[in-house]
Amino acid sequence: MNAPVFPRLEIPHTLAAGPGPGNTADRVLAAYTSPGVADHMQPDVLRGMIECKKMLREIWGTQNVHTFGIAGTGWSGLDSMFSVVHPGDKIVMFVNGTFSGIDELSVRMKAATEEELRANPLDPQASSVVTIRVPHGQSVTGEIVEAALAEHQPKWAAMAHWETGSGRINEIKGFSDACEKHGVMGLVDAVSSLGVADLRIDDYPGVVGWASCPQKGVMALPLTYAPVSFSERYIAELRTIGARSFVHHPIMEARHWGIIDGEDVEKGTYHRTHSPYAVASFHEALRMVLEQGLLQRAERYRTAEKALRAALESMGCTVTSNMTSLIVLDLPGELKGREKEFVNACRAENFCIWPTLSEPTQVRVGILNLLAEEELSAIVKRFGAALNRFDVAADANAAVRELKRHL
Ligand SMILES: *Cc1c(COP(=O)(O)O)cnc(C)c1O
Repeated sequence: MNAPVFPRLEIPHTLAAGPGPGNTADRVLAAYTSPGVADHMQPDVLRGMIECKKMLREIWGTQNVHTFGIAGTGWSGLDSMFSVVHPGDKIVMFVNGTFSGIDELSVRMKAATEEELRANPLDPQASSVVTIRVPHGQSVTGEIVEAALAEHQPKWAAMAHWETGSGRINEIKGFSDACEKHGVMGLVDAVSSLGVADLRIDDYPGVVGWASCPQKGVMALPLTYAPVSFSERYIAELRTIGARSFVHHPIMEARHWGIIDGEDVEKGTYHRTHSPYAVASFHEALRMVLEQGLLQRAERYRTAEKALRAALESMGCTVTSNMTSLIVLDLPGELKGREKEFVNACRAENFCIWPTLSEPTQVRVGILNLLAEEELSAIVKRFGAALNRFDVAADANAAVRELKRHL
């Protein structure tokens, strides 16, 4: 039997009000489809990559030469960052939700010895990895990090800056200070915070490696580039010990972005076939972030989150998160146990909110690139209408007034 030729794939327009991917800007989508057909070594493509590298240094707030993008999504950048971790390396992982939990799995796969990997290939229990679990809904504090590093004296420590599973901000200064004090090299998953947080990574010298993603705070398309940044200390360590990866190797990947032997060069050299279309749209997204201004963006997110939080609370929800791009909440008491049903009903109408992906089940409402009053009002109205359909007597109009009072 021949495979059928399916009709052309049509994807509807939705309100992407989740933890990410964000509500992609038309400009970024248009930049993906408008470039001419070109190859990955065409001079304007290479120039675009150099410009992206320079814009990324500004967005990360860093002088790190090794600042560029890893093709793929957040996990691709994280895989690159963690490629420095070798079997038997002692590392402390701080876990307070879904994503730091997957970071921990990723690190166990790299730190496991051959025997440990063979004993449990998909979930190796690496004895050199120490996991500190912080309950869902709570943040990793500087004191927790300090105590763990003092006790275990590892080579590495890793944490998510903003844990998107539970919507919690973890204490980056405390993490960096403890790493510095104990001579530990810090690695940070900044997938959710970059482009939203008021963050300058050079303020945190205890952290040597940072990895983010395209489609959350920086508002680029998924599967384009995951921003990463590595300090000289990280690169020196990697030079000494190597990594068992060609494609995600931070030193080798950097060559295509015009970073060779620790120096900026005028144009990149081949590492793999980059996409001119990905480069063009990523470039446009970075331009947008810088046009809006990093401090101004952080402030707009703070204001919008506060307003949306007040509006949702006025309809009986209880918010447990403290991120400024995402609200994680418990529905009004009568809907306890029906969170997934509620989210699915919203998603069926292209109002794309999310449940939490690990226990306990909560509802997540995100505002990436949804900061205008009419966009926030639309979220409140649709959320209120869904509550009404689930027989909760919420007043969506009053909630919109509450929203506006805070904007
Ligand atoms: C979304 C997310 C990831 C995974 O990113 P992908 O782009 O889906 O690969 C990892 N860590 C955190 C904190 C995230 O929010």
